[in-house]
Amino acid sequence: MKIIVFGKPNSGKGSRLNEIRKKIKEPIHVLAVGDLLRQEVEEGTELGKLAKQYMSQGLLVPDEVINNMMLNKIRETQGIIVLDGYPRTVQQANAMLEGDEIPDIVMELYVDDAIALNRASDRIVCKKCGRTYTIANEEYQPKQAGICDDCGTQLVRRKDDEPETAKKRLAVYADDTYPVLNLMQERGIKVITIDNSTEHASKDFEKEFLGAINQK
Ligand code: ADP
Repeated sequence: MKIIVFGKPNSGKGSRLNEIRKKIKEPIHVLAVGDLLRQEVEEGTELGKLAKQYMSQGLLVPDEVINNMMLNKIRETQGIIVLDGYPRTVQQANAMLEGDEIPDIVMELYVDDAIALNRASDRIVCKKCGRTYTIANEEYQPKQAGICDDCGTQLVRRKDDEPETAKKRLAVYADDTYPVLNLMQERGIKVITIDNSTEHASKDFEKEFLGAINQK
């Protein structure tokens, strides 16, 4: 089955998914486009070199490149697939649906822009596994300052979390990504929204996520 976890940059998709992974026995395969692209950049592949030019400016990487990468990944992955960061444009959503990769549900994590920008300035990420931490929030701090709890790798600040780039990414989300929600709804795909700025957001997300996989 396929679950799309949707939301603006820094809405907290990665953190919620990290929590849910620990709570359910069945393996879930999270395909996080940003992490996959950063890995390509790190390895210096042709795809990575191309992607870097867009990512560093807070712009989206061209649709054909992303569709190619993601549709292949989805097709070679079995079981519960969670898409984090795909589709991010109406063109990508159409490519997915036309390719007969129909999501079972879209879960939107909502936060307002001010919270998203705040989180960008507070976020540090693991260079290797992509896990994110929040400097100002005790609950999401690493046990040892600057080191990933999961893999022991150094934590860094992402260049695209600098204020100007973070703002640009929010604008791109509003213009290019948000319309994907309407399209999915029009195609009869269930879309649910969770307010990810409340104290009970984690529980709400867990309940909806478990509900979705148990229905299958
Ligand atoms: P965030 O969700 O915080 O924006 P990601 O790690 O998901 O961060 O994405 C980082 C960057 O990778 C994006 O700003 C964009 O340049 C690129 N990217 C990720 N997903 C896509 C996509 N589906 N289509 C095009 N570019 C993408």
